Amino acid sequence: MHACPVKCSPQEFIAQARAGDYQGAIKTINSNNPLGHTCGLICPEHFCVKACLRSKIDNPLNIPLIQATLLKMFRGSNDSVQHFATNGKKIAIIGAGPAGLAAAWQMLQLGYTIKIFEKSSSVGGALNLIPPSRLPHAAIDDDWNYIRQMGKADIIYDCKIDNPLELLKEYSGVIMAIGEQNVVNLGVKGEEYITPYTEYLRYPHRFMDKAKVVIIGGGNVAADCAVTAHNLGAKQVTMLVRRQISNLRIDKKELFNLIDKGINIIPNTRVVKVTKTDDSIELKTCSTCIDEGRCLDIPNSEINRGKVDLIVKAIGSVAETPIEHEKIIYAGDCKIGGSTVVEAIASGIDSAKLLHSRLIDEEKEIA
Ligand SMILES: Cc1cc2nc3c(=O)[nH]c(=O)nc-3n(C[C@H](O)[C@H](O)[C@H](O)COP(=O)(O)OP(=O)(O)OC[C@H]3O[C@@H](n4cnc5c(N)ncnc54)[C@H](O)[C@@H]3O)c2cc1C
Repeated sequence: MHACPVKCSPQEFIAQARAGDYQGAIKTINSNNPLGHTCGLICPEHFCVKACLRSKIDNPLNIPLIQATLLKMFRGSNDSVQHFATNGKKIAIIGAGPAGLAAAWQMLQLGYTIKIFEKSSSVGGALNLIPPSRLPHAAIDDDWNYIRQMGKADIIYDCKIDNPLELLKEYSGVIMAIGEQNVVNLGVKGEEYITPYTEYLRYPHRFMDKAKVVIIGGGNVAADCAVTAHNLGAKQVTMLVRRQISNLRIDKKELFNLIDKGINIIPNTRVVKVTKTDDSIELKTCSTCIDEGRCLDIPNSEINRGKVDLIVKAIGSVAETPIEHEKIIYAGDCKIGGSTVVEAIASGIDSAKLLHSRLIDEEKEIA
């Protein structure tokens, strides 16, 4: 429980499930984590799994999968969704990703009416970029259906908010859960020939005919790009990683999955130049080394890696500069930086509590 950013207690819900109290187990999960189904499918191992005491005997339990399975099997029949009376106040949330949905869940419990403004046409934010083989969209829908039943909450799709200050005319407060919308540039010559991961993962069918694919990056996003390329039928998929294999920001399970699929992972390598020829792209890299924690280029180590059909950059994104206003609260990746789904949820819940406390303080001052 202490290892979980939303303080969900695996000991409690597993004990309830073992005793056949499935509704109790669902209630335990739901009372801490509004996106328990989604989280259960993609939560990284370094939270509850790493802390599982069973690993002192043999192997840790796959706690996230137990959670997702319980919710998948029993939440539909769960009639214990709590409904909360409204307090007459309206809150606007910008972004229907995990942080925005979690903020909505917390605000509903405090009695607010919620309007979520989402610039895309689907719920889930960055989760929609995760290949369905790893995260079926039905899990996100299931979590959102659970949240929306608790009170008055809806999402306005295809609605980009450019000026949140405007919303304060109609809403008591605004939660900005807009993620990180700007893909990080490598800063190399020929950057324009490199495809951002957002475009690649959102429209994979546009890249069906690419035989030799290079992915730049060593985290979850890069791994998803590599698997997508493999699934689209690429003959050769290579991941170029600036640091060592031991620095990859993916679970062991995901690393084995990449190896099983024949994806070539080249560590200690940085792309220095990309050139476009008539029908393909050429790539030049240099070797890197780690010196006192810093990743440095090795002088005179540049090599030409020849022609490839597609290069995808998946080294992260950055957020926009925040607006300072006491009734505009930031949550999720746009506040804490590229994180994990469960950390974005925890941040969404905290932001809702903070906004509520500010509104209560304001009421007291007026009184
Ligand atoms: C490919 C990929 C794989 C990942 N794999 C994992 C994993 O295995 N495990 C894990 O824990 N995490 C993973 N993550 C990270 C996780 O998805 C994010 O940490 C999480 O989605 C962040 O949630 P958020 O709500 O802060 O932001 P987002 O999910 O980015 O949501 C922000 C939302 O705001 C909307 N928006 C932005 N600007 C506006 C505006 N002006 N007006 C209206 N709407 C707006 C966006 O359209 C989006 O829907 C992965 C991310 C990606 C991209």
